[in-house]
Amino acid sequence: MRVSRLMLVTLRDDPAQAEIPSHKLLLRAGYIRRVASGIYAYLPLLWRVLQKVSAIVREEMDATGALETLLPQLQPADLWQRSGRWAGYTAGEGIMFHLKDRQGHELGLGPTHEEVITDLAADLLRSYRQLPVNLYQIQTKFRDEIRPRFGLMRGREFIMKDAYSFHSDEASLRDTYAAMDGAYRRIFRRCGLRAVAVEADSGAIGGSASQEFMVTADAGEDLILTSADGCYAANQERAVSLPTPPVELPGGLRTGGAGELLATPGQTSIEQLVGAHGFEASQLVKVLLLLARFQDGYLQPLLISLRGDQQLNGVKLANAVSARLAGDHGVLLGIDPLSFELVAALNRSEGRSIDLSAFPLGYLGPDLDDGLLSGSRPSLGVEGREVRAGSSGVAALPQPPRQQLSAKFLRLTDPTAAQLPAFVCGANQIDRHRVGASWQGLQLEPEVVDLRAAQPGDRCLHDSAQTLTAARGIEVGHIFQLGKKYSEALGARFTNESGEEEALWMGCYGIGVSRLAQAAVEQNHDGDGICWPVAIAPFEVIIVVASSQDPLQSELAERLYGHFQAEGLDVLLDDRPDRAGVKFKDADLIGIPYRLVVGRGAASGVVELVERATRQSQELTVDAALEAVVAAVRSGRSGLQVPGAAAG
Ligand code: ATP
Ligand code: MG
Repeated sequence: MRVSRLMLVTLRDDPAQAEIPSHKLLLRAGYIRRVASGIYAYLPLLWRVLQKVSAIVREEMDATGALETLLPQLQPADLWQRSGRWAGYTAGEGIMFHLKDRQGHELGLGPTHEEVITDLAADLLRSYRQLPVNLYQIQTKFRDEIRPRFGLMRGREFIMKDAYSFHSDEASLRDTYAAMDGAYRRIFRRCGLRAVAVEADSGAIGGSASQEFMVTADAGEDLILTSADGCYAANQERAVSLPTPPVELPGGLRTGGAGELLATPGQTSIEQLVGAHGFEASQLVKVLLLLARFQDGYLQPLLISLRGDQQLNGVKLANAVSARLAGDHGVLLGIDPLSFELVAALNRSEGRSIDLSAFPLGYLGPDLDDGLLSGSRPSLGVEGREVRAGSSGVAALPQPPRQQLSAKFLRLTDPTAAQLPAFVCGANQIDRHRVGASWQGLQLEPEVVDLRAAQPGDRCLHDSAQTLTAARGIEVGHIFQLGKKYSEALGARFTNESGEEEALWMGCYGIGVSRLAQAAVEQNHDGDGICWPVAIAPFEVIIVVASSQDPLQSELAERLYGHFQAEGLDVLLDDRPDRAGVKFKDADLIGIPYRLVVGRGAASGVVELVERATRQSQELTVDAALEAVVAAVRSGRSGLQVPGAAAG
């Protein structure tokens, strides 16, 4: 390909819309253009990268015996209603784009394909003899992300490889999961990425194993915690650790009962209590008042007790709450602090008059009386909004589910708080705390659940001499043992060896193909531009003619160009009449791994070979240069290239 025909438009300055290096570079170097928020055009250069990534993904998936397929992006609501995910994905913070067709049937644009594939499996897979199977596709996904950002990292339309496997038993599922783990490691290594596998949150269904692959980079949205011995790595959403031991309350302050009242005027935070009374944060039990909202309109107030020096892990909390209530009330739509602001907003939007002043916020104790909920129930219990038919008499507003407030708090206590023999906590009255309270003294039997966020510096469970270190990661892949969640919901059953019917075991495996391409830039760039790993570079070598007016140089460049093409290399020829400096800058910016400069040395058959990543350069005879580039590119294509091999 000739640069003059490439429609290459590079930008000198960083575009204002881009925050992280890879996003800036992809825009500046002419790889992508923004069409709308989270929606990008993949320009020809990027499309070549995406196709190379896809080819590697295909090779590795095919090598495991997986079958490529292509499923529809328009998906009927009915399938998602049967799996129970329609409401969660379309209402509230749901991320599925959805629409109605001309017949009034509801459809969603595929954010993922468990429903479609499981329904197909129900139709096609009947016997254990057909199992296991693993189907994959590489396709555009749509997600109405709450915060699309960083270019291709979090788009609303992006390319994903997703695979779904079906099995007759759990052992077979584990085998395929392990095969996918191996394939993913090879894919990321071949793409030139430094990726780590971390334990991941498996969501509310629990139990099932799940692992994410993180490309380590400061721009990553995820926090990962790892131990130096390499034995433990987890997403912080999921991570566990040993908490620091608490500082015990001095003997004189331990009453063993409900505690002694202490005046704490205006002291509503841990810091204020610690500052005013010399407590240690680990001597306190803090109580968070939250409200969980469910699909069927059920509202569950939560009282969460944590040790004062610990932080809540929202993902663990959501899993715990879902596990207890989703069976009866459908999808957990969200958990928010039950604050004056939330109540005011509910009052405004729903025309209600909830009074939160009865709650001693800032002074809550774990034994807050359930009576407060019944007391405020008449104003909290909400009827569905009145429905008015449109003037045409056809379109009625959808009726929100009738809201119903639980009469009891769901009280969950983190082990760090539950294990305190005596503590300081709110007295459930304004300006008062209690000192020396115990769980027994408060007449509570705490329901203990791991809810605390593991922190960098925490000691590890597998070896208390190891501590956790934090790093930022970009999630490029996720593998998941789903179990029977979807097959049971969608009736995907098979006949097992003993002739009995049972639901299929399932796994699912995703790779963010477009996110991966940008992650490669995030890990492989310098001050001048991108340094593509050879295996996914849009072109492997670029020939720059220093002075295109010089017929000798042009001729030699054309000869090299033809030679590389004949050798099957992806070669770019910068034949533009621009100054050499401009062309060198562009070559650095777009990041082609090898650059051959045809300049004054052309007369004596000498060219300059520059390796982009290391900037090593050397003058070589034409033949030596040809040989060096072909050899370097061929070894680089395996994804295991050693920078400097050609120029060293
Ligand atoms: P995230 O936690 O980043 O939102 P996810 O857990 O929702 O991702 P999955 O449903 O596991 O993502 O999707 C599989 C892969 O698709 C992810 O590992 C990621 O690489 C990619 N991906 C997910 N959402 C996006 C997006 N909005 N833009 C680009 N890639 C994405
Ligand atoms: Mg994920």
